[in-house]
Amino acid sequence: MNPRIKILILEHDVDDIGLMLHELKKKELHFVHSTTASKADFEKALKEFAPDIVLSDFSFPTFNAMDAFELKKNICPEVPFIIVSGAVGEENAVELIKQGVTDYVLKDKLFTLPGKISRALKEVSSGREKKITEKELREIEKRLAEAQSIAHIGNWEVELDSGNEYWSDEIYSILGLKPGEMEPSQQNFLFLVHPEQRSDVKAILDEADREQKPFSYSTRVLHRNGTVRYVYSHGKHVFNSEGKAVRQIGILQDVTETKRMEEELKILNKELETFIYRASHDLRGPLSSIIGLTNVSKAEIKDEASKKYFQMVEASAQKLDATLISLVQSMTMRDMIVNLEEIDFDELVKETLAQLKYHEGFSKIEISVKNTPDKVFKSNKLILTSVFQNLVQNAIKYQNYHAGQAYLKISVSRKNDGVEIVFDDNGIGIDDHLQEKIFDMYFRGTSSISGTGLGLYIVKIGIEKLKGNIHFKSFKGIGTRFTIFLPDTGN
Ligand code: ADP
Repeated sequence: MNPRIKILILEHDVDDIGLMLHELKKKELHFVHSTTASKADFEKALKEFAPDIVLSDFSFPTFNAMDAFELKKNICPEVPFIIVSGAVGEENAVELIKQGVTDYVLKDKLFTLPGKISRALKEVSSGREKKITEKELREIEKRLAEAQSIAHIGNWEVELDSGNEYWSDEIYSILGLKPGEMEPSQQNFLFLVHPEQRSDVKAILDEADREQKPFSYSTRVLHRNGTVRYVYSHGKHVFNSEGKAVRQIGILQDVTETKRMEEELKILNKELETFIYRASHDLRGPLSSIIGLTNVSKAEIKDEASKKYFQMVEASAQKLDATLISLVQSMTMRDMIVNLEEIDFDELVKETLAQLKYHEGFSKIEISVKNTPDKVFKSNKLILTSVFQNLVQNAIKYQNYHAGQAYLKISVSRKNDGVEIVFDDNGIGIDDHLQEKIFDMYFRGTSSISGTGLGLYIVKIGIEKLKGNIHFKSFKGIGTRFTIFLPDTGN
């Protein structure tokens, strides 16, 4: 149940009080009341009874309604004040309302009193709510501004009809300005964009305006003191229910720190790649000598035990050499310029098999090719050779010696917008829990078969370089199928 309304009645006529209370009870108003008839009592009641509403006669022997109203205004300004009088007179009524009196009720129309009380109280409570909402709103705005300043993201808005534009304080800060220092407008923003990028940014914004499409770009802005900052901007149109663009909204983010870290990382990466590349090259020279020397030694040494040791040295040296070759391959593939040439897949497979014919297990696996390209396909031969070599080598290495004839079926088929190449084997398959890692650098699924853990990593880099994709399906003990798609892009 609602709390009881506290009504303070300022009236000296006991009958009138009785009539008022009668009307209020009739409407089942939930209330308590207090009555006063003198100024002193009234003042006391305002403070102690603390009414929710005051009902006052118009004139009393000692003072009048306006004095009472002034008193109430000082003590409890929000409390509504209704005059209940025998005759107020039109002019007086208007004057009273102008002064701030909430309402008036004629004594011969007392039946309107409960309704007027309810309305007056509702207005007070909605006014209070509005005040709370305004306070909350200011709080939210403050928090938003703090969040924007921490994240270095500002927001802007344009009312398309009026052209009115808004920049949050953080936008000003990102642009090296004090809040409100510059009129927020696209033109002014462009003025702060680095001169080298201004026309590009303008073209993007013009296109977004024309097409009413979302946009995003990164650019540099120039502060007045010459500082250059990197910013990222993203914006879009907001449409009304009829599909008409009414506003454009967006964000501007200061990404200078991220940009600086990216640049540092790029330099570090480059240095690391150069180091690996140089180191691999420099190591391969002496390594070739070791392999050569072990070969000679094996031929000359008669002692079987020593021969075995030399064989082991040779195997280790060869494994190291394979790792170095793969490392160099992956480094070069990343940075290489992709030259395109017509690809003869039959020839490619032939060359791959020739390269691998001395590989252990080669003679035990049946490798077949189905090649049905009916249209010229251009790609980078060096990358494709590496992809084929690694995938065929894996099929040879990971063949299942205990499950009948091992096979690898390679098929090349033309698709609308590219070529699909499938490598399908019935080898040992890959454990489910290892499958998500097999393209990772240095990942090895088994230690019982020798490898570098770089083969599929190189394949993945190569395919990405050709803007294609690779996926696979594998079942432990049944086999593995790699499917590659290479688009015609660039042909
Ligand atoms: P490596 O063969 O040198 O170990 P790869 O990057 O070529 O490295 O392959 C990563 C892992 O994926 C292998 O260790 C192996 O466990 C698994 N794998 C790759 N190809 C096959 C395949 N055709 N059949 C079964 N397992 C495979």
